[in-house]
Amino acid sequence: MLAQLLLRFDPAMPRPIKASIHTAALAHNLDVARRHAPNSKVWAVVKANAYGHGIENAYPGLRDTDGFGLLDLDEAVRLRELGWAGPILLLEGFFKPEDLAIVDKYGLTTTVHSDEQLRMLETTRLTKPLNIQLKMNSGMNRLGFAPERFRAAWERARAIPGVSQIVLMTHFSDADGERGIAHQMETFERGACDVPGERSLSNSAATLFHPTAHGAWVRPGIMLYGSSPKGLEVTAAQLDLQPTQTLEAELIGIQDVPAGGSVGYGSSFVAQTPMRVGTVACGYADGYPRVAPTGTPILVDGVRTRTVGRVSMDMLSVDLTPVPQARVGASVTLWGRGLCIDEVAASAGTLGYELMCAVARRVPIHAV
Ligand SMILES: *Cc1c(COP(=O)(O)O)cnc(C)c1O
Repeated sequence: MLAQLLLRFDPAMPRPIKASIHTAALAHNLDVARRHAPNSKVWAVVKANAYGHGIENAYPGLRDTDGFGLLDLDEAVRLRELGWAGPILLLEGFFKPEDLAIVDKYGLTTTVHSDEQLRMLETTRLTKPLNIQLKMNSGMNRLGFAPERFRAAWERARAIPGVSQIVLMTHFSDADGERGIAHQMETFERGACDVPGERSLSNSAATLFHPTAHGAWVRPGIMLYGSSPKGLEVTAAQLDLQPTQTLEAELIGIQDVPAGGSVGYGSSFVAQTPMRVGTVACGYADGYPRVAPTGTPILVDGVRTRTVGRVSMDMLSVDLTPVPQARVGASVTLWGRGLCIDEVAASAGTLGYELMCAVARRVPIHAV
């Protein structure tokens, strides 16, 4: 009786969906970043729970980095608890004076981008030296000091007891695109020309495509996770980047749909000829994009096919024409090994970034 009850509630029998994190691929992609910027130290960016991979899952693959960059204090503390004793950079800095107690306790490096943050630093007593990255707004107009005020901000920061190393930082809006970085580099150099200190400028796209901007530190994020900052224009494979997150599910149903039969909500897909359609245990509540249209690539038993009809909350449908042997229980790859996340993203009109960050909590996720 008890055994039966235990069986019923056995958590080892979940829905057939999971995400696997590929430790060796993370390490490989970090090496690719190092190859591109051999003279720079690397802040491996692990914000947003390591781009949806889970800090704990990503850490083993990325521990050869020089430092980790992230946003949430909670994630910084988790990294310390995993045993990481090296630098951790808060990419947006602290938000409230009380955050500084945690910054101090855990020995974090912080971005300083505003007068408000300088004021908080001026009025807080720290117990250990604090390294900061002083951020200039060189044209993105999100965070940072205006170029003409940068030198004054640096002098103010330098005068704060407890502030130790000051690295000069900015962020590019178009390192992956046509406009490029020249206009921002020019602004940055103008504002920082008489300010000493190492530089921290480059996201993945600048790390890959703009060697003149590397400086002492680079800050790659997306490339570490096997997605190209240029999407399908320069593919992850062309950049020698390996997928680090495979989202897999199974077929849980198969339908023989007659010519004229429709599939899913809104009957948006109508079969032109009789066809077999598989039902996959993955929907938008798992993080698969609802906007992915009919024709989005997907693998069944390793064979490439396409989705058909609308994505539901818990299920989506696939065309089984290229995989006539597929049965209930067949493995389905939504993205990852064998199907680059950037292809699925392009079909859904978004980026690999958004898909990998959106994998839902109900999907079990493990490093392999
Ligand atoms: C997210 C982020 C990065 C990494 O960007 P990718 O495009 O993912 O490489 C670097 N620097 C800052 C400040 C960021 O917020």
